[in-house]
Amino acid sequence: MSTRIRMRRRRHTKIVATIGPASSSPEMLTRLFHGGADVFRLNFSHGTHAEHAQRIAIIRQIEEREGRPIGILADMQGPKLRVGQFRGGRAHLQTGQIFRLDLNPTPGDARRVNLPHPEIIRAAGIGTTLLIDDGKLRLRVVRQRDDHLEAEVLVGGPISDHKGVNVPDVVLPIPALTEKDRQDIAFALEHGVDYIGLSFVQRPEDVAEAKTLINGHAWVVTKLEKPQALENLDAILALSEAVMVARGDLGVELPPEEVPLAQKRIVRAARQRGRPVVVATQMLESMINSPSPTRAEASDVATAVFDGADAVMLSAETAAGQYPYEAVNMMDRIIARVEQDPGWRALMDASRPEPERSSADAICAAARQVTHVIGAQAIAAFTSSGSTALRMARERPEGPVIGLTTEAAVARRLALVWGVHAVVTQPTHSMSETVARALRVAHQERFANAGDEIVVVAGIPFGQAGTTNALRVARVK
Ligand code: PGA
Ligand code: MN
Repeated sequence: MSTRIRMRRRRHTKIVATIGPASSSPEMLTRLFHGGADVFRLNFSHGTHAEHAQRIAIIRQIEEREGRPIGILADMQGPKLRVGQFRGGRAHLQTGQIFRLDLNPTPGDARRVNLPHPEIIRAAGIGTTLLIDDGKLRLRVVRQRDDHLEAEVLVGGPISDHKGVNVPDVVLPIPALTEKDRQDIAFALEHGVDYIGLSFVQRPEDVAEAKTLINGHAWVVTKLEKPQALENLDAILALSEAVMVARGDLGVELPPEEVPLAQKRIVRAARQRGRPVVVATQMLESMINSPSPTRAEASDVATAVFDGADAVMLSAETAAGQYPYEAVNMMDRIIARVEQDPGWRALMDASRPEPERSSADAICAAARQVTHVIGAQAIAAFTSSGSTALRMARERPEGPVIGLTTEAAVARRLALVWGVHAVVTQPTHSMSETVARALRVAHQERFANAGDEIVVVAGIPFGQAGTTNALRVARVK
């Protein structure tokens, strides 16, 4: 085992950093990791497979060199609807005019454009709202035919090639996985990513379909960005290993004043189930072009931490901005500062969900309590599938959770989970060996010094998932 000092974070809430042209060099990825990125996100709406493969290889090299597991999220584009092309690349729609969206692939103009989605044309009805270019243009369908829609332009403006179209009012009769998504998922799994992000999920069946394809080789991170998904939130949470509050598209499909409430509701529901939840998009948006955030952005990151989210995410800030390192570092500082506040701790205690009726939850609740009462430095949780570490994190305990697992893949997945510092270790065979291992790791990873106490959570028989039934207090010699 290497003797160099490994990176440990001084915070519970994790950071997801999106990788792009601004952050693909080994040097910058290393800096982002040192600055606080726990998970890297590859956005499959952009970039080639060759580029993604190269980024994955670099991240795995950093992981190897630093001796710390790093999570990789492959985020699928999903069934994003887009208009076709325009003559000259662009056009301008006047408020009040009628605009036609049709199946004709020839370049459009100010009167019509191609919408290469016959199923959407069929599913829309009179009165359906069409939002173009992140909601900048707003149209209302006034006439529907087999091969085209006519819509009144309620809010006009410039429109150009391939702009996105959102249809918030209807459950779209389209599968959540496109052919491109299927190819991207196969590629991502071949390259050993840890989570697959699913975009524009509408129904629980969308998640179920993806899970069949992924077959346990990665966690599914369901992106909540459609109002229809919120209607099915509980069923979607039950099927997803993690979720994301994808405020970018959610904020197009819902009025802005609804987004903060949706965020609170999703975070609360995910914490209730013990599913990791990521708050995403525009968190430090102004840092794309500025080395420091606005006061409102700092406050937004703090709010997600106060909500008890598992992770906060950076998108364009790190993928394409001028200050990727500064953005990660700023997020790290905001989180660490909030987590020192007694008011934050009081909120974590007040919002804790009840344990469910299982021995694992009972042991985890007890471990949290014991840690609080004796002031233990850390909780060492032995976890083969990751489940015990998740249940432990659900308690939002004081002090870090050291997640000890024999599986590198499990350790990487736990990079997304609130408060968990995962360590890959050899199997243990007895309680005394288990406790000794926990003490050694806690000491080596600098969570506890001689004389400090830790709490150990384990399952007997050892190395079997779903057996968590033992709690010990142990002191570092
Ligand atoms: P995207 O998802 O960046 O892939 O669109 C996040 C969001 O919509 O907030
Ligand atoms: Mn989105």
